[in-house]
Order: sequence, then C-alpha cells, then structure tokens
Amino acid sequence: MTAKIIDGKAFAARLRERIAEEVARVKAAGVTPGLAVVLVGEDPASAVYVRNKGRQTVEVGMESVEHRLPADTPEADLLELIGRLNTDPAVHGILCQLPVPAHIDAAKVLEAIDVAKDVDGFHVSNVGMLYTGQKALVPCTPLGCLLMLRDQLGSLSGMEAVVIGRSNIVGKPMAQLLLGDSATVTVAHSRTRDLGAVVRRADIVVAAVGRPEMVPGDWIKPGATVIDVGINRVPGEAGKSRLVGDCHFESCAEVAGAITPVPGGVGPMTIACLLANTLTACCRANGLAEPEGLAV
Ligand code: NDP
Repeated sequence: MTAKIIDGKAFAARLRERIAEEVARVKAAGVTPGLAVVLVGEDPASAVYVRNKGRQTVEVGMESVEHRLPADTPEADLLELIGRLNTDPAVHGILCQLPVPAHIDAAKVLEAIDVAKDVDGFHVSNVGMLYTGQKALVPCTPLGCLLMLRDQLGSLSGMEAVVIGRSNIVGKPMAQLLLGDSATVTVAHSRTRDLGAVVRRADIVVAAVGRPEMVPGDWIKPGATVIDVGINRVPGEAGKSRLVGDCHFESCAEVAGAITPVPGGVGPMTIACLLANTLTACCRANGLAEPEGLAV
C-alpha cells in the first residue's frame, strides 16, 4: 500500500480562505479581530515566526499588533504590557512568543494573559477547560492535527489513537482532543515499554517526539493515519541540512493509509490555527456566532 500524502500546506491555505470569509462576516457586524504578538529578545527563529504570523494575520483581514521588546526587558514591564493588552478591546488574541529570556518566568507570563485572549491555549484555565470538556482555546499545533484527522477520517469515534510524546504544547493536548472526539487514546513517552507494539495497535499515530525518523514503517498498522509533528534538522547532501520528521517517511508511507510529510504537513497548520483561535476568541468576546468546526 502507498499512503495518501496529506498536504498540510494546501489544507492550511484552504483554512485561511475560510477564516478570511468569516473575518469579513465579523467585520460586517462591526468588529475587526485583532491579534497582538509580543516578542522579547532577538532569537532569529522566533523573529521569522513572528513576521510570518503578522503577515498571515493581515492577509485574512485581521488587525496585527507587534510588540518587540529588548532582551533585557524587566519581567515587570512585560507583565505591565500584557495587562494593557488584556484590557484593550481591539485585541482579541495575545501571544507571547516563547522562549523568553532566562530572567523572565515564562509560566508567570502565560498566566498573566487573559484566559479569553489566550490564543496559544497555554493558560492553566484553558488547559483545565480542555481536560474537563468545556469550551476552551486549545494549543494551535494539536488543533491543526485534529482538523487534518477529521478531514481525513470523518468521525474518530472508537478509533485506537497513539500519541507519542507527552509535552504540554503537543502531546498532552493532542491526547485530550482525540479523547474529546471519542478515540481510544494511549499516550506513549520515553519510558514506554515496547513502543513498537504500542504503535502497531493504532489506527491513528501522532508522533511528537523530536527524534529524527525514529518511527519505522514496521511499527505502523496497515492503513493507519500517521500525523508527524516532529521537525528535525539533519545533515543532508553537499554539506546542506534538511528537515525530517519523527517518522521514517518512505517506510511509513509504504504501510500507512495516509501520512503528513515533513516539511509541508503539520507545520503550516500551526499559524492557520492561531488565526482560527483569534477569530474564535473575537466571536466569543463579542457574542457573535463562532465558525463551526474550528474550535472545541
Ligand atoms: P518535547 O521535547 O517537549 O517532548 C518530547 C516528548 O517525546 C516527551 O514527552 C518525551 O518523553 C518523548 N520522547 C523522547 N524520546 C522518546 C523516545 N525514545 N520514545 C518515546 N518518546 C520519547 O517536544 P515537543 O512536544 O515540544 O515537540 C515535539 C516535536 O514536534 C519536535 O520535533 C518539535 O520541533 C515539533 N513541533 C512542531 C511544531 C509544528 O509543527 N508547528 C510545533 C511544536 C513542536 P518524556 O516526557 O518521557 O521525556
């Protein structure tokens, strides 16, 4: 069997088109969704990411506000800025780009963001609401994975899902989202015994580990759907580097029913889901109907 390749780039582009239509509807009701992104310091990867977020925010018709602060910004000043954004009615989503410099307590910053504007879904109250099956803002990467799985499989009810990785930003929220869609969920991690046997049970595999190509094709149940979250840079040809996922793509694609590539799979969905969360937050804050199927 040769798997269908799930084109995350095309899926994300369609999602942004839909968001742009919904933004136009919300604007017609008199509100412009606004996203504020805060970047502290000069981390080059973060700067590129923030620039892309800003560009895509504007492209779907939303307001984008960027706050770039020097690396030595005192924690108190950052908290004061977040306090101002919390009370600004033009801002519906607030994101503080991680990592923050070492002198700033990231947990304190995340908890300072208004739960209703927490479009990264990292605030403990949003985490708790997701775990208790209430309306929440959920982390963008696992939300993107869920949307792709629903699109690929329709109902996930009763399916065996194995999530490899238990981080707060991917593995754990992913497991909760799958549970919310009535999959039977196993969360594997570095202490899991016989990981291959665990993965072989799965109709759905989500790999979020950060280890290049660690999942071989012979761990995959024939016909399973494989979502590869991993982004790993490895040495390539002619002294250049290349990106690979956590799954060995060629061998997994021989067995799986569908698989996301790296790059071009989960990656492009993350910013699209950030825009979806901002739109959802805006609709909820203004008592407007929220778009169907873009949030939990
Ligand atoms: P973390 O390092 O926070 O978590 C990795 C998880 O993998 C841990 O739970 C760890 O287990 C588990 N793990 C490590 N080694 C093994 C092993 N040998 N067998 C089984 N499990 C193992 O990573 P993140 O969740 O933040 O990210 C995971 C990957 O996803 C990375 O490659 C990252 O770059 C990528 N990523 C991609 C995004 C995107 O596409 N937009 C967004 C976010 C992440 P334990 O808890 O026991 O240590």
